[in-house]
Amino acid sequence: MVSLRSSGPLAVGGPLTMHLAGAETNVAIGLARLGHRAAWVGRVSDDELGEFVLRQLRAEGVGTDGVRRDPDRPAGLMFLERRTADLTRVRYHRAGSAGSALHVDDVRAPLAAGARVLHLSGITPALSDSAREAAAFAARAAAAAGVTVSLDVNYRARLWPRAAARAALAPLAGYASIVIASEDELDLVADPGADEATAVAGLLRRGVRTVLVKLGSAGARAHTRDGVERLAAVPVTAVDPVGAGDAFTAGYLSGHLDGLDLVDRLRRAVALGAFAVTARGDWEGLPRRDELSLLTGNAAGTTL
Ligand code: ATP
Repeated sequence: MVSLRSSGPLAVGGPLTMHLAGAETNVAIGLARLGHRAAWVGRVSDDELGEFVLRQLRAEGVGTDGVRRDPDRPAGLMFLERRTADLTRVRYHRAGSAGSALHVDDVRAPLAAGARVLHLSGITPALSDSAREAAAFAARAAAAAGVTVSLDVNYRARLWPRAAARAALAPLAGYASIVIASEDELDLVADPGADEATAVAGLLRRGVRTVLVKLGSAGARAHTRDGVERLAAVPVTAVDPVGAGDAFTAGYLSGHLDGLDLVDRLRRAVALGAFAVTARGDWEGLPRRDELSLLTGNAAGTTL
């Protein structure tokens, strides 16, 4: 998807800047920056906006072999309107977009190519019936092939009501080894109104190995069969909260791919979340591997 950012109220016009946006692309870029092989699968428009998305991904080292160009549909757009210094409004133009037309046939070949981890967000299944079927097919096929499936609930109230999200995402979670959610999203992969302990117990019973709960500036919790680990956030000056969750996910998956233990995976996750909030843009501020300790290695905050 393409995001267009304003520096003031949209109604009065003025310059917009164009950026690549999307939960899964943010995660893929976060992983590629850390040196992992990552690829994104999806549909883009067959015009200069689709070309822009592909160029951005390629520039970040994200594989695009599994991307299909759709000649019949426009790019999905998102306006980020800086309405006041403290309030940014989001408006989507994505109904009928190329991305929303994702189909089961688009994911077959990329799945056959293999991977160690398949990461899905709860946004794609909200886009259309065919996208929901494609996500479910991918989760099922990957789990059957022994691929680690990771699911970020990523609830978007603008896209669907909670009951519809639960009906699609709770079954998906059954294929996942890793489930990532904010506190208020946990009942979307459990029974309505379930509290954290109940939701986590249900997920672990269904075969999920790790449930990660994102707590914004309070850090995160990780639940496994062995209990719960908690980690505080890295203290930084937050300038833009968007993308923190995807960065957190990229950090966790990076630690998973590197074979780190749970606490070190969480450490990398909260470090990437901090990088995301302390820079403008959804993914632009994410670190390369040699930058990982930039925010944590030097408590005084001076550059050496
Ligand atoms: P978004 O949907 O905006 O991407 P989210 O709600 O999915 O975000 P958050 O819980 O806001 O995710 O953030 C994910 C992680 O990023 C947190 O668990 C935390 O580790 C880190 N983080 C978030 N906000 C801050 C902050 N102000 N300072 C430091 N770290 C933060």
